[in-house]
Amino acid sequence: MTPPKAIIIASGSELLAGLHTDTNTQFLAQSLRRIGIGVMRTLIVGDAYNDLVDTFSYALDRAQIVLISGGLGPTVDDLTREALSEATGIEMVESPYALEEIRERFRSLNREMSENNRCQALVPVSGMYFSNPNGTAPGLVFDAGNRLAIALPGPPRELRPMVENHVIPFLEQKYPGLPKESSVMVRFVGSGESTIDQILREKVPFDPRIRVSLLARLGLVDLTLYCPTSEEADLSLLDESRKRVLAVLGDYAYATEMVDLGEVVASMLLDRGETLATAESCTGGLIGAAITSIPGSSRYYVGGFVTYSNEAKVLQLGVRPETLERHGAVSEETVWEMAMGGARSLKADWCVSVTGIAGPDGGTPEKPVGTVWIGVACPGRNWGSVRRCQFFGDRQAIRERTRVAVFDELHKALRKKEI
Ligand code: ATP
Repeated sequence: MTPPKAIIIASGSELLAGLHTDTNTQFLAQSLRRIGIGVMRTLIVGDAYNDLVDTFSYALDRAQIVLISGGLGPTVDDLTREALSEATGIEMVESPYALEEIRERFRSLNREMSENNRCQALVPVSGMYFSNPNGTAPGLVFDAGNRLAIALPGPPRELRPMVENHVIPFLEQKYPGLPKESSVMVRFVGSGESTIDQILREKVPFDPRIRVSLLARLGLVDLTLYCPTSEEADLSLLDESRKRVLAVLGDYAYATEMVDLGEVVASMLLDRGETLATAESCTGGLIGAAITSIPGSSRYYVGGFVTYSNEAKVLQLGVRPETLERHGAVSEETVWEMAMGGARSLKADWCVSVTGIAGPDGGTPEKPVGTVWIGVACPGRNWGSVRRCQFFGDRQAIRERTRVAVFDELHKALRKKEI
């Protein structure tokens, strides 16, 4: 069977006005791809009835599957239902089952169902509906024979479970045996996207069956390799290609699955049975917050210092006043004393430290905005490192990049066999 193509439509005037970000489309596209359904177009449309009918008709003329999110609420500006009925020529009737589910939802919330919610029990005469245990609007399938239009509630916490539990199983049943794309990934830190791209081009020419995607964000780069099917030959081609990538770029790779660098560092510390402390200046607690956002961090993270002023660095971390005077707060010497002081005070095996100029003010020709020193100390093994980084972007970007670079430094240290 030729795989069907889909068009995804996000409806809502607030999306069109740029007041709200459309995240449903991305989620829907990824969900469809997983089951071998490609997306040929994505569209955003406002709440006006004629625009909705027009857009739905346009999509139904071109794709076998049209997925729509939003506009299933009970108010006058929620017109997806009616517009889809007109675009497909499929009428709607009130479903006593859907109505009872909506009433039940209100009862469970101890609220009275208002009369305008009744329209949410309208379902297509040709098609079906999906129950919505997280809201009142059921999902609707308009089945026009060779075309399907599926309307889903806008709020992601309603849409996502409905897609997982109903839409995907329904489409898998409707289109059995579709070739499912397979993929492998490698996550990198410490090297730029263009460097990785160039090394791959020179040293790892990929088989033409493989589609390559490189995505970079804040100093992290994700490489994903795709093959058109999940058959044995494609799976082993991907596996072998990933091995070749790791052979040339393994030093920068931190994961081959969807895990965060912070989680990788966390599991390395846990494996070693060692503890970590933090001593932060320009990041103001961001590193500690990132570590504690990982579940189970209490097993290795002992705590941290936010020492913004020179006095705090002296008082809490034991940085020597003459170090600060001679070299300044943003310096190799200070960041090292911060790391050693943090490890000592909290009796931690490891301490990472950060001091820098996040801007927009405070830069000098020798230490421009974006200058950040990162220290890693492991006093018990007589080991330590300091690194000067130069980041670009606004204050927030510099702080975020620092967070990634701190994890990168720690990751590199924990990987060393001799430490
Ligand atoms: P409700 O029954 O809550 O009215 P609905 O199906 O009518 O739901 P909308 O009114 O279009 O959906 O959107 C409700 C809310 O859902 C929006 O205010 C927004 O918070 C969220 N939402 C809608 N569409 C999207 C989208 N494409 N991406 C992310 N969030 C969305």
